[in-house]
Amino acid sequence: MNQLMRTFSSVCRARYGQAVGKVPVDIGRICPNRSKGGCIFCRPASFTPLYLESTDAVIIQVEKAKEAMLRGRFKKYFAYFQQETCTAAPVDELLRLASLLLHDDSCVGLILSTRPDAVAAELLAPLSELIKASGKDCLFELGVQTVHEQGLQLLNRNHSYADFAKAVTRIQQYGCFEVGAHLIFGIPGERRSDMLESVRTVCALGIDALKLHHLQVIQETPLEKLYLAGGVELFSLDSYLSFLLEVIVIIPETVTLHRLWATSHPDLLVAPKWNVLASELSKKLSEMMNQQGLWQGKALAESL
Ligand code: SF4
Repeated sequence: MNQLMRTFSSVCRARYGQAVGKVPVDIGRICPNRSKGGCIFCRPASFTPLYLESTDAVIIQVEKAKEAMLRGRFKKYFAYFQQETCTAAPVDELLRLASLLLHDDSCVGLILSTRPDAVAAELLAPLSELIKASGKDCLFELGVQTVHEQGLQLLNRNHSYADFAKAVTRIQQYGCFEVGAHLIFGIPGERRSDMLESVRTVCALGIDALKLHHLQVIQETPLEKLYLAGGVELFSLDSYLSFLLEVIVIIPETVTLHRLWATSHPDLLVAPKWNVLASELSKKLSEMMNQQGLWQGKALAESL
């Protein structure tokens, strides 16, 4: 296990004895929030791998991904239902796909990316049976972005923080799912203290995973208009890394960190353009943590 942070890769090495990749699958469903204007920062193409075609059968997508993405680096993978809101699909369709993937020996589990208001009870019960029977893992990755209602409204999320908290509890009660929260740092109008409060609040729900992003402005989104009108202040690279040092120490050591920054497609990214590889960011952050004697959960341990 990484000594500074509980990262997704270090957890996989400990749990499966090897590195594990995430293979994105696109089941061609449109997020229900798009009919209400969509989240102001969201443009699907900004996080869609080039080889991914929703018109391909899921098993073909997985085979293409194994070739295009894993390239022999990983022998095992999580099927990552990352596009749009995967649980907008009919329950039967999702269960059929889940079963198909769970029967692939090289698939160690599923990651289902969705909205807190789109997790049907009709899905959870039969999916929990499938997961228990397979002995594999299943993580629900719930977008919430902030616990503050003003921020949720500005982002046009069209759900409340209470919706998120309820969804977490409903998923946790099956005892076989992990739950993760997706947060964005730098939402207009939020101070650092508000962002830290979001981290503390979602962690207090006993979540298992976090996916953290700095706010990025993507072309042809409502956020771009707001940014061009001067209404958005973005993190610089240095200010974001120093903010992450404040964040990581308040995250319990049991929470797995799937992501610490956004990596939108450079052709679509308006700002901030840091022009630095994710591997360099990781290296820089680790150096800063080592220099300052920090590790994940340090502030929590010291407050006991
Ligand atoms: S809920 Fe997710 S997929 Fe839907 S518009 Fe918002 S960010 Fe995009």
